[in-house]
Amino acid sequence: KVRVRFAPSPTGPLHMGGVRTALFNYLFAKKHGGDFLLRIEDTDQTRYVPGAENYIIEGLKWCGIHIDEGPENPGECGPYRQSERKDTYRQYALQLVESEDAYYAFDTPEELDAVRAEYEEKKETFTYNAATRLNMRNSLSLTKEEVDTLLASNTPCVVRFKMPTDQEVKDTDLIRGDVKFQAALLDDKVLYKADGMPTYHLANVVDDYHMNISHVIRGEEWLPSLPLHILLYEKLGWSAERPQFAHLPLILKPVGKGKLSKRDGDKLGFPVFPLEWKDPKTGDISKGYREEGYLPDAFVNMLALLGWNPGTEQEIFSIEELCQQFSLERVTKSGARFDPEKTKWFNHQYISSLENEKLVALFMPILEEKQVSTEGIDIAKIVGMVKERVSFVNELWDQTSFFFQDPSNYDPKVVKKRWKEAVPGYITEIKETITNVNDWNALEIKSTVSDLVNSKEWGFGLIMNALRLAIVGGGFGPDLFEICEMIGKDATLRRLENAVN
Ligand code: GLU
Repeated sequence: KVRVRFAPSPTGPLHMGGVRTALFNYLFAKKHGGDFLLRIEDTDQTRYVPGAENYIIEGLKWCGIHIDEGPENPGECGPYRQSERKDTYRQYALQLVESEDAYYAFDTPEELDAVRAEYEEKKETFTYNAATRLNMRNSLSLTKEEVDTLLASNTPCVVRFKMPTDQEVKDTDLIRGDVKFQAALLDDKVLYKADGMPTYHLANVVDDYHMNISHVIRGEEWLPSLPLHILLYEKLGWSAERPQFAHLPLILKPVGKGKLSKRDGDKLGFPVFPLEWKDPKTGDISKGYREEGYLPDAFVNMLALLGWNPGTEQEIFSIEELCQQFSLERVTKSGARFDPEKTKWFNHQYISSLENEKLVALFMPILEEKQVSTEGIDIAKIVGMVKERVSFVNELWDQTSFFFQDPSNYDPKVVKKRWKEAVPGYITEIKETITNVNDWNALEIKSTVSDLVNSKEWGFGLIMNALRLAIVGGGFGPDLFEICEMIGKDATLRRLENAVN
């Protein structure tokens, strides 16, 4: 059975790159009728940020990514937080020492710093590996008695992986194809720390095995860790059951080189997080897609196309369609450039094709905040009239405020261009004529105004622009006569009156 996991470390808010990793895992699972797990990798206590786990769960929920098993809804393989699985890891660290695939290392932080400094002086970098390990203080360089004494006196120590020197590690990545690594070039990573916690590598492998993970789909930055992980599976005797790996391409900056970062967002004014995030230490607020007025479906649609393509021209996908069509074969190897403008475009597509009723539900809180009366106003019809013109829910107000209240000012640019000297006189005449329209609807008003304009031989364009300025306060908006019908006769006459005074 397909079982995948999203395994974030709760060190801060979930970046959109993280959401994309979660999404691709989710889509892959659903495509194959499998499970999507959330596992919180919180073994590094020094980097733990309160609130981050909750943020991750809320962010996934907002995106419509349903967690089949996780800290909030555990399945059979819990707990789903690594800090609660501490006991599991220890035995495997010991097992690896026993099989001589790992060793105890007693070097103190000061000793390590000293060696590093020594190397730096020689303009070299120190690596803890086959070439240096025998010069260090560990169970390979010390006698058995020395080691036993140190252990018996509870001397702080870590467990390091004994990287083999003669092995070539090979794998077929589901996105990248064949990859190979020379183990001799890698270092002896710490697997288990002096504080009784595993490091990422050990915990990750042990948990993927225990949680029956079939496919590991994660960011490209983890590719260098792959040989160590493969060797761990091998040395723990789990090679036959090990998951298949797929490393996703980077998300690139909108312009220039390199990986998309929060700084790009700050510079160009787009969010990099799904939800707003308040840093618990500094109190700084980072923007979120949700708060900026993006619809989750639009955000998810945009993310899905960052590194994946359907092989057709289709761009708009519901999450259900994505679940059906997604495949790792169509994920690209090369980085995917993030485009904030295209993201807005997606949102526009979703807003303008949303059912009026649904849009009303999103718009109501804004109307409540503005404290305008909506009595007798067909809000669904109004949003239907303007939704083609907006990309964000918040923009609905700018496009529709004149339905709810008289203009409080007139756009000076439009006044200068459109409000010719003769205009107030014309408007007054129009006002007097339409006072007599009994059946107040757009068609009637329009034909009454047209008849007058034609008989007087005024320019129709001039009149329309002036009327629009009087009714709306600017040079924008949907069909003017529809607006007049909607706001009613009294309001129409009042606004014409106000405009000429
Ligand atoms: N905890 C790792 C992270 O924060 C997980 C990497 C993996 O998926 O193996 O991204």
